[in-house]
Amino acid sequence: MTNVAVVGAGVAGLGVAYALRDDADVTLFERTDRVGGRAATGAQAGCVYDTGANYVKSDDERVSRVVRELSDDAVEVAGSVWTFDADETISEGRDEDAPKWTYRDGIETLGERLLSASGASVQTDARITTLRRDERWSVEDAEGNEFSPWDELVLTPPAPITASLLDAADWDDDLGRELREHVGHVPYRTILSVALHYPFELDRPYYALVNADKAHDVGWVGRESCKPGHVPAGESLLVVQMAPGWSAEHYDRDDSDIAASVADSAADLLSDHALAAPDWFDVIRWRDALPNSGANGDLLRRAEDRNLRFAGDWAEGDGQVHLALRSGLDAGDRIAE
Ligand SMILES: Cc1cc2nc3c(=O)[nH]c(=O)nc-3n(C[C@H](O)[C@H](O)[C@H](O)COP(=O)(O)OP(=O)(O)OC[C@H]3O[C@@H](n4cnc5c(N)ncnc54)[C@H](O)[C@@H]3O)c2cc1C
Repeated sequence: MTNVAVVGAGVAGLGVAYALRDDADVTLFERTDRVGGRAATGAQAGCVYDTGANYVKSDDERVSRVVRELSDDAVEVAGSVWTFDADETISEGRDEDAPKWTYRDGIETLGERLLSASGASVQTDARITTLRRDERWSVEDAEGNEFSPWDELVLTPPAPITASLLDAADWDDDLGRELREHVGHVPYRTILSVALHYPFELDRPYYALVNADKAHDVGWVGRESCKPGHVPAGESLLVVQMAPGWSAEHYDRDDSDIAASVADSAADLLSDHALAAPDWFDVIRWRDALPNSGANGDLLRRAEDRNLRFAGDWAEGDGQVHLALRSGLDAGDRIAE
């Protein structure tokens, strides 16, 4: 059976493994101790909160089918997304056409389900630092452990990390240099995502607010209590995602300083001063949060001759769970072919 190494166990890498579940031996290498990547969930004091992707929404039939096949506990987010502008004027904004899904235990469940349905092996806490191409591919982690040989190699980390892997690769090929140059130019924006918990309910006519003119320090405020099973009755939990400029500028500050500023901003925006004093918070830093544009698919596909493939939101051109998953499923299908 073909053996496949996948770097990164976000939904794209897990999509590769799921598509190949009957056709290949797949091993995923993941630098953290969990799977799901930016489809991530925090849990604290009886609350569950999605810290990266807020939900998965799909008009792609195949992705919807996979998500449905894997979920007996998917939950629909209640309420719609409204907008606000630089002046903090809130408007009944976006018309929601497709339903928004997460899971009772958070969106991270999607990654866990993909992994178990795929039957793939996963090496967690394995940060890959070196790729090597002889007749076949091998990969090495930061501890110097080498894993080889692989018939096929799939790279799924965000583009800036994939570019640095290509840069450090022991692979003498003009295509490798061209790919490194190109992938290194796919820009990502940074987002600080802050969970703020309150021991009281917060009643509003919307699930979330998004900054429509991109001129506010806050990019998004979501009410986790609109997700069934996430927040106990009598409490509330806001997930506030700060704008890229603000996030980059404040990235290295202490968690408590960041949370205090973010809570003040939330209190102003929602016109409720009680929101300035959460009883607990959680700060999550996403250096490579969302791609601003995509890569050239034709160039990426040229690497398939060398048994090298790419998947991820940046390969599709937009930061959305369903696109990342589709990109992984497609890459897996092409290997199976
Ligand atoms: C704050 C925020 C809000 C978002 N909101 C939404 C939303 O509401 N709806 C939506 O659809 N999408 C949303 N997204 C985007 C969505 O989360 C991503 O597009 C999607 O999860 C990307 O999946 P991926 O597999 O391509 O990448 P990732 O999830 O980043 O997976 C890549 C994996 O590779 C691992 N990795 C990196 N480097 C290495 C290495 N050297 N060795 C081994 N492993 C490595 C990483 O740890 C990670 O697990 C949001 C993202 C963020 C950050």
